[in-house]
Amino acid sequence: MQTKQAIQDLTKDELANIIKPSFRAKQIYNWVYHKHVNSFSQMENLPKAMRNELDEKFTITPLEIVSKQESRDGSIKYLFRLPDGSTVESVLLLMREAQYHEDGTLKHHRRYTVCISSQVGCKVGCAFCLTAKGGFVRDLSAGEIVSQVLEIYKDNNIPSNHRVNLVYMGMGEPLDNLENVAKAVKIFSDMDGMSISPNRQTISTSGLSSKIEKLGKMDLGINLAISLHAVDDELREQLMPINKAYNIASIIEAVRNFPVNQRKKVLFEYLVIKDVNDGIDSAKKLVKLLNGLKAKVNLIYFNPYPGTDFKRPDDKDMRKFQEYLLNKGVLCTIRESKGLDISAACGQLREQKLGEEK
Ligand code: SAH
Ligand code: SF4
Repeated sequence: MQTKQAIQDLTKDELANIIKPSFRAKQIYNWVYHKHVNSFSQMENLPKAMRNELDEKFTITPLEIVSKQESRDGSIKYLFRLPDGSTVESVLLLMREAQYHEDGTLKHHRRYTVCISSQVGCKVGCAFCLTAKGGFVRDLSAGEIVSQVLEIYKDNNIPSNHRVNLVYMGMGEPLDNLENVAKAVKIFSDMDGMSISPNRQTISTSGLSSKIEKLGKMDLGINLAISLHAVDDELREQLMPINKAYNIASIIEAVRNFPVNQRKKVLFEYLVIKDVNDGIDSAKKLVKLLNGLKAKVNLIYFNPYPGTDFKRPDDKDMRKFQEYLLNKGVLCTIRESKGLDISAACGQLREQKLGEEK
């Protein structure tokens, strides 16, 4: 079946080139990204013929919610179905500024972060990652990336002017789909659209050094996160086969050349796995490696799933690791296990659903 292109796939300029006169593009953006309509027929200030034409060419709802799981901390994990039947996950995370009523119920939660997918599956094949287990299916289009956030806004009645952060940390390797991801970054930041400025968007990569360099040259103004997870090449190759093509030194070099916003730092994610990379010797090497870089470290608890031999690290080892870094003057946070009770690590909801369908 031929599927229609998502309207969210188009930048405002692209839309203006095909819909004349060009001021219509701004109106359409307003309907899609501010008024959150679900059909072209609702775009009342457009001529009827134009609405019909749009309807013939495009879809406005390329994603369908298959299921959602809410965690105790209020985070919501979504499984979306794409027009070709593939599924991807996205997560709405409620960040720190949540305030509570006296009875403990949530009053309001100002800060949202949406974690989005960039591909169906992933080619990189990291040993600890559930997304990798299903192999690679395909890249997401820019519109499919943008729509994950749009559908989450709609489902939670998040007003279009709300401050939201985006992290490209769902399924897939964003730099393996650089063109569409870069386009999505631009569409997200359009002032007539969602106005999510690039400095509130973070691309997380397993370390495709040449693509990091390329992304840097694009000068989009986005933040960079590196999934490092190991401090020597031997271990990193075992955990992340991509390290054979792009070793640690090449990643550090690419980060050095990356244009980082004055007040920002590059985030190094370090997935801590019990008895694999949780020792102080690793912390020592990490400090050396990051020497001279504008970097901060985020320690992540490995989130176990059925069938994996890797284990969640002990809290005390996590804290020791963090203290070591802090004492050496390296900024280091421990990622709260947001949505752990809904198995929030990427790929897990999809896996569960596929299991049910089998
Ligand atoms: N492909 C990109 C972005 C998506 S993965 C990347 O690897 O950076 C987002 C993060 O989830 C990565 O840091 C990854 O290491 C982490 N992750 C994967 N499996 C996990 C698990 N089982 N528990 C905790 N984090 C996991
Ligand atoms: Fe791909 Fe990231 Fe998972 Fe590695 S951790 S397999 S790069 S999604």
